[in-house]
Amino acid sequence: MEQMSLSLFEIPDGVSQITKTLKNAGFEAFLVGGCVRDLILGKKPKDWDVTTNATPEQIISLFPKTFYENSFGTVGVVTEMAEDPSLEIVEVTPYRLETVYSDFRHPDKVSFSQNLEDDLKRRDFTINALALDEGSDGKASRIVDLYNGQKDIRDHIIRCVGDGNERFSEDALRMLRAVRFLAELGFTINKETADALMLNVKLIQNIAFERIRDEFSKIIMSDEPMIGIIMAQKLGILRYIVPELEESIGVEQNQAHAFAVWEHLLRSLQHASDKKWPLEIRLAALFHDIGKPKSRRKSPETGEWTFYGHEVIGEKMTRKILERLKYPKKVVDQVTTLVRWHMFFSDTEKITHTAVRRMIRNVGQENIWNLMNLRICDRIGTGRPKENPYRFRKYKAMIDEVMRDPVSVGMLKIDGKRIMEVAKINPGPKVGYILNALLEEVLEKPALNTSEYLENMAKKLAILDDTELKKLSEKGKEKKEEIEEIELKKIHQKHHIE
Ligand code: ATP
Ligand code: MG
Repeated sequence: MEQMSLSLFEIPDGVSQITKTLKNAGFEAFLVGGCVRDLILGKKPKDWDVTTNATPEQIISLFPKTFYENSFGTVGVVTEMAEDPSLEIVEVTPYRLETVYSDFRHPDKVSFSQNLEDDLKRRDFTINALALDEGSDGKASRIVDLYNGQKDIRDHIIRCVGDGNERFSEDALRMLRAVRFLAELGFTINKETADALMLNVKLIQNIAFERIRDEFSKIIMSDEPMIGIIMAQKLGILRYIVPELEESIGVEQNQAHAFAVWEHLLRSLQHASDKKWPLEIRLAALFHDIGKPKSRRKSPETGEWTFYGHEVIGEKMTRKILERLKYPKKVVDQVTTLVRWHMFFSDTEKITHTAVRRMIRNVGQENIWNLMNLRICDRIGTGRPKENPYRFRKYKAMIDEVMRDPVSVGMLKIDGKRIMEVAKINPGPKVGYILNALLEEVLEKPALNTSEYLENMAKKLAILDDTELKKLSEKGKEKKEEIEEIELKKIHQKHHIE
């Protein structure tokens, strides 16, 4: 048995407590699966799994706080370390035997075993079939590695445990998991495993879209989503998940585009991942031009390709795809909105405040910066090296300008109506003078912006004669313009435009 250096392993106390408790009660207990793989890779595990020869009832009886709601024998043990979300609940599962999945979704029944070997045998890939015994009482920790998983981790290889054909036909989701690990870990899929996968690929059709979606999202959220999607396509998986994407393969564009639509979409997605942007931007990057193949026409005049309305077609297609994949409505709405409006850009001279305001209305304030980031993905995905050219910075500055609260009498904790009430005056220019005079004071000393102070002050100002009051009002207006100018200058500096 091969031995890796275990000294680097960082296993949280909350997790060690659980294996210790099981072992003290006379059971076997191992860390198993993804967490062992990640420990060896020096990555922080997303979650911690423990496998044991104890039964669910025995597990439950050993811990003060547990959850047991599913039919797979897994007991969720609540740890005392809830400040780290990966440690809130550690899943403790009895050794399980491989079972029949006649609906390709759930095992028909779950049966437990007394042997760790049985449990490792049912796992998907060699890199996920490692068990780690932490060792205590002076005993060194050891890794149980029946399928050379440690070597495959070292060689960056994804390989089925045992016969690939059997593994993939038992549970077709494993095919998508193979691609997911490839994208997450930067590994390659072993030749026999890939062959077995392609032989069984049509079984993906039997998998519930919710499960497919979860793996698809993990591919999208990985560091290498471009390679992930390319491999999903090459292996024949993609046509069962997002066949619409395949329509874009080889769809050439004009001179301005270095790449065909397919490659452009993948590069846009990859940039969103390089930037660590959230799921919504990544999905929008992947789908923003999905309407192009359907809208492509050759212009009779210029002989150039046109793609009129591709964003409208793209919006519909994206909605269909995301709904098929059972994404929550919020995600669907956000991504389709981004796809619909990704063509907003225009020449520097044409970027007016009105146009920017309209765009914010179209996509919503909460989405406007996502739209700008999508634009960056689009640019980089087109092969342009510069992420942030002048007109882009100008657009961003204008967004800041129209989204900020302007300096105006609207900021005051008093309005014209209230002034007329407290100062007992009629509508007329005087009301405006008083408002501007009050604004001056508040701009000088923001702490004075209380209704109590302003009402008092309004009463005093109302006694002044009009010429004097008008002078104060002018001063207020000047002060306002001065501050406005400073604020705009700050925005321009922030975006490096003159
Ligand atoms: P992650 O980093 O996403 O948590 P993981 O490998 O831990 O990756 P999980 O879904 O948490 O994946 O599953 C934990 C372990 O359970 C896996 O490492 C694997 O050993 C086993 N496993 C999970 N799903 C399957 C499956 N469909 N078929 C066989 N084994 C599976
Ligand atoms: Mg895991």
